[in-house]
Amino acid sequence: MKKQAYLLISLILISLFLLTACSPAKPFAAEDFAMGTVINQEIYGADAQKTSQEVMAKIKALEALMTINAPGGDVNRLNDRAGNGYVALNPETISVLKSARKISELSNGAFDVTVGPVVKAWGIGSDNPQIPPDAVLKKLVALINYTDVHLDEANNQASLQRPGQIVDLGGIAKGYAGDVAKAIYQKNGTQSALINLGGNVVALGHKPDGSTWSIGIQNPRSETGEVVGVVHVSDQAVVTSGDYQRYFEKDGKRYCHIIDTQTGYPVESGLMSTTIVASSSTEADGLSTATFVLGLTKGLDLIKRYGQAEAIFITTDKKIYVTKGLQGNFQLKDARHEYTYVQEG
Ligand code: ADP
Ligand code: MG
Repeated sequence: MKKQAYLLISLILISLFLLTACSPAKPFAAEDFAMGTVINQEIYGADAQKTSQEVMAKIKALEALMTINAPGGDVNRLNDRAGNGYVALNPETISVLKSARKISELSNGAFDVTVGPVVKAWGIGSDNPQIPPDAVLKKLVALINYTDVHLDEANNQASLQRPGQIVDLGGIAKGYAGDVAKAIYQKNGTQSALINLGGNVVALGHKPDGSTWSIGIQNPRSETGEVVGVVHVSDQAVVTSGDYQRYFEKDGKRYCHIIDTQTGYPVESGLMSTTIVASSSTEADGLSTATFVLGLTKGLDLIKRYGQAEAIFITTDKKIYVTKGLQGNFQLKDARHEYTYVQEG
């Protein structure tokens, strides 16, 4: 009797295991940390675990190339040679610098990866954020100029024009990592997957049942990560920049981690968050930062000029602007009725 009971339990366990392993209804979920953020993957189909590991290994390799926080990578070698000619770089770094230039041109320099010296002076991302003296900022702002990044694509090299200039890819590298993850999913035959790199989401395909992915748009002032809305997408990147992820407070004032490239001060553009929905995660990342700097009106104008993106902007006076192409796929979930929904024409 005892033996039979064991057998029965084993059989139930085995079938349960087989059910979960084979069922397309449940994705393989993985969580890890890289590029300064938690990274979550949800992968449906065969070889999901192996694919998730391949994606994480690749993201860590990209981080080593593009981080400003550890010596030896491409970005650090480029910065160390500022004012001293070309440095050989990985083609992927060149490609990210090229995408960055495109967004800089479109945004008239609101997005600019040469913002590095100013980011450093504020200690953004460090343990000791501080308010630099105004005179220091004035000098450092003069070093910001994306046209000083020279790209020699034929020979995979780049240079920075002036000594002291610093490239910081913090506003675009996670977006690029999202595109690379998607390419790995596709190469491995995955048809449904989602990756979230700290607010930088890329959805591949639909869910296996044909439904869309639901991506939560965070309430920028919720301590507990509540959402104010949900956007339904397939095969799109959904990238958010906000003043609530990384900021510090001094004398009751909030200083966010995105810099106004005109003034050298943390942005106060009347926005709390910008979310961009587009097929390129790299460009969506650049655009989310750029529109955050530009504010509502100029930000909406940038999205129109770009032509291949939709946007959700949340203003400090608690209005949620959603662009036309997204309105049918956006659901307000504002449980406390704090926000006003504005359908942007
Ligand atoms: P997050 O990294 O939190 O997702 P963003 O994509 O908006 O947010 O990137 C913010 C980062 O980009 C900053 O931490 C800094 O490294 C860099 N950055 C700050 N201001 C600018 C700017 N005006 N243009 C380009 N990069 C910026
Ligand atoms: Mg960005």
